[in-house]
Amino acid sequence: MKNIYRFGYQKTDGSVNLVDLLGGKGANLAEMTNLGIPVPPGFTITTKMCQTYLKNNNFTKKIYKEFNKEIGLVESILNKGFGSEKNPLLFSVRSGAKVSMPGMMETVLNIGLTSKTIPGLISKTKNERFVYDSYRRLIMMYADVVLEKADKRTTKSGLSIRLMMEKLFSSLKKRRGYKNDSDINVIDLKKISDKFKKVIKQELSIDFPDNHMDQLVGSIQAVFKSWNGERAIKYRKIEGINHKLFTAANVQAMVFGNMDEGSATGVAFTRNPSTGDSNFYGEWLPNAQGEDVVAGIRTPHPINKNSRTSMTKHAITLENEFPSIYNQLITIKNKLEKHFKDMQDIEFTIENKKLWMLQTRKGKRNGMAAIRIALDLYKEKLIDVQSVFNRVNSKHLNEIMHPMIDPVIEQQMKPIATGLPAGPGTASGRVVFSASEAENIAKKGRKVILVRKETSPEDINGMNVSEAILTTRGGMTSHAALVARGWGKCCIVGCNDLVIDEKNKKIYIDNLVVSEGEWLTLNGSEGKVYGGKVKLIKRDVSNNTYFKKLMLLSDKNRNLKVRTNAEQSKDVLKAVEFGSEGIGLCRTEHMFFNPKRIQFVRLMILAQNEQDRKKILLKLLPYQQNDFYKIMKNISPFPVTIRLLDPPLHEFLDLKKQDIVELAEITGLSKQQIKNQTDLLHEVNPMLGHRGCRLGVSYPEITKMQATAIIKASIKLLNEGIKVFPEIMVPLVGSINEFINQKNIITEIFQDALKKEKVKIKYLIGTMIELPRACIIADKIAEHADFISFGTNDLTQTCFGFSRDDIGSFLPHYLNKKILTKDPFESLDVDGVGSLINIAVKKARKVNKKIKIGVCGEHGGDEKSIYFFNQKDFDYVSCSPYRVPIARLAAAKAKHLKL
Ligand code: ADP
Ligand code: MG
Ligand code: MG
Repeated sequence: MKNIYRFGYQKTDGSVNLVDLLGGKGANLAEMTNLGIPVPPGFTITTKMCQTYLKNNNFTKKIYKEFNKEIGLVESILNKGFGSEKNPLLFSVRSGAKVSMPGMMETVLNIGLTSKTIPGLISKTKNERFVYDSYRRLIMMYADVVLEKADKRTTKSGLSIRLMMEKLFSSLKKRRGYKNDSDINVIDLKKISDKFKKVIKQELSIDFPDNHMDQLVGSIQAVFKSWNGERAIKYRKIEGINHKLFTAANVQAMVFGNMDEGSATGVAFTRNPSTGDSNFYGEWLPNAQGEDVVAGIRTPHPINKNSRTSMTKHAITLENEFPSIYNQLITIKNKLEKHFKDMQDIEFTIENKKLWMLQTRKGKRNGMAAIRIALDLYKEKLIDVQSVFNRVNSKHLNEIMHPMIDPVIEQQMKPIATGLPAGPGTASGRVVFSASEAENIAKKGRKVILVRKETSPEDINGMNVSEAILTTRGGMTSHAALVARGWGKCCIVGCNDLVIDEKNKKIYIDNLVVSEGEWLTLNGSEGKVYGGKVKLIKRDVSNNTYFKKLMLLSDKNRNLKVRTNAEQSKDVLKAVEFGSEGIGLCRTEHMFFNPKRIQFVRLMILAQNEQDRKKILLKLLPYQQNDFYKIMKNISPFPVTIRLLDPPLHEFLDLKKQDIVELAEITGLSKQQIKNQTDLLHEVNPMLGHRGCRLGVSYPEITKMQATAIIKASIKLLNEGIKVFPEIMVPLVGSINEFINQKNIITEIFQDALKKEKVKIKYLIGTMIELPRACIIADKIAEHADFISFGTNDLTQTCFGFSRDDIGSFLPHYLNKKILTKDPFESLDVDGVGSLINIAVKKARKVNKKIKIGVCGEHGGDEKSIYFFNQKDFDYVSCSPYRVPIARLAAAKAKHLKL
């Protein structure tokens, strides 16, 4: 293995295949050379050498020899000499890791300018101004990158050396009335260079090196050291980049965009990175060097008409100014896209009317562009269909479905707190602390954000009218998270940076206080909380042709069906719009929280005997029947899985004074009796208490009412000529007799009704598998059940013994200490919960080959989990409406995935 690889001339020996050793920049410089594209010659010192250098803190003699040899080769090609008094060669030293870490590591330009070489370059170029412009740049970069950061010197003033120099520079410009850097005359450039050197001496107690080789070696070492710079380490932690990749150092002959007005520098994208359209898109500056374009010192010009913005409407374009170079650039751009089969982000420099390419890499893009570019490249036959799916991810889809902050602006914002990203999109609103307050204020047309320790079903209406929900407790499947995700509403949970003082209506975050009525902005896709109000970009996919195309293409390429978890008409219709193929989970209790009905539900619970209970259930029946009617109508011709009543009854009995008075009046019981009754229902551990099918076993009349409502609604629809496929799901079954007990009740009601009305309706009866015991006896269940659907939220809860509402308090520690690598409620725990599912699927299929198998937990909308369900040959996944598109795409990805 070599320490050094060459690029930019016939002896190029690197290529894109060596990206591990050469880093992205080096590998692509070599690859561009291989494609016959003009690249200034140079060499790449490998990542391996970086590792060795960081270990030994020095280069060996052998390495110095190799450096000299490589420098000699570049000298002979260009017919210049590094350090030469007559015709000096200058270098840049550029970092470049395998994965791009924009702005994290360092580059030094114009290396080799010394008191010896400066006169030579002046006489050679006859351009003293250009030489001193390059010199002042070198001094500033070198002081910052090498003398201060890499060598860990601190200034006497405590300010950064770059900042001090920038201040000097801008005050000179102000004093002398210069608008642009390119206006500064040579006398002033000389003066500022001298000043810079003096500041270095004063502040860092060292001389700026006046030797070309010292400058070069110092820069290479600084680039290597920058791998372990604070910023770089932090960035890698956030982005999950391996610390052992290391960076390469690219030593490259300088070409000069700042030589004269026939020179320029620019950056471009081969396609538009924010819309994805195929127009070449970029910016350039005449008489400028390196980072002037991105640094924002001067407003860069558009390279062509398509790149114009409102600010650069009348600016000169490269296309007009240098037409033949622009055409060369177009040819190169096409070549690069064909070769790399993706949109590229390129850097170029024009020296004296000659074009040089300095970099190409995969271009960063937003969600819309990712989708459009993938589809266009597929149409252009550059990539296959599977690559289309792999180039779009759930983040991209979320981005185009939900409002967001302009990413450029958001990058510069600092969150005041962070929590778990529970509901997608971004929202701004005024802080309120209770659901009722949310309703009051929202009624006045104001935007609110509901801030709570946690939410409960009682808060539903307040949550619904809020722009976003923020809780300090709870995990990814806590009540707030589930509800918000179902609505596609922005939500952050488990945000324990926050302390809520409900009495005084204030939030404390360290030293910061946010009072009721003040604005917050939440980015629920990333779990970031910002202070104040921020302007958002609105989204709508219903007219987005590329989104639709991607979805249709996914549908053609998947096995898994995608259903939705929904019960409200609004959600069902949203899911239909997003392409849902049925309802995989309709939670009947959600319909009970409606203020009109909840009183009946409470009376039913408080009923003293079966007869009273039946009477009240009869009052609930028409409501339920009408609900089911609407749902089945909206989703027809697709099936609906209706789950029988599931939650512990006490959830309906969070009574306010007024409620108790009313209930006492209706029932004729005293207020104390009502209280006693509710106390009786109190459970120590309601999650494992009187809930699920246990309710139906204790109170068969509830199951009967629900079954009646379902079959009556179905018959009514059938008579109206609308196709229905009801699937009745018995929740929380742990033993086979529970299931049989409930199935018999349902069957009897259904058969009676069908016989009476003399109609036939195909229906299924099955169960939700959410207990480990149910997995183990899945064969017994499968003998009697038409389908099983994994309720992976509760299954994860019961498998781990983690309460999903309380996981927020310890999950961060588990993740930090790597006890868990991810939240098992967010992405399926394949090892544990997955094994249980595996056992259940195998056992069930063994006795009942045709049994329908699905999943209706939150995992049904998670990309990685979907891979697992696909692998186990599930019939469908079911997820909240806004995740339906994500699931459709993930199912297509999964089909060809080799695990
Ligand atoms: P980054 O990774 O931050 O983009 P680069 O190594 O690409 O850093 O360099 C920063 C800037 O300097 C870029 O604009 C690049 O085009 C310019 N540059 C680097 N090397 C040379 C060179 N040999 N000649 C001219 N410009 C160069
Ligand atoms: Mg670059
Ligand atoms: Mg459950």
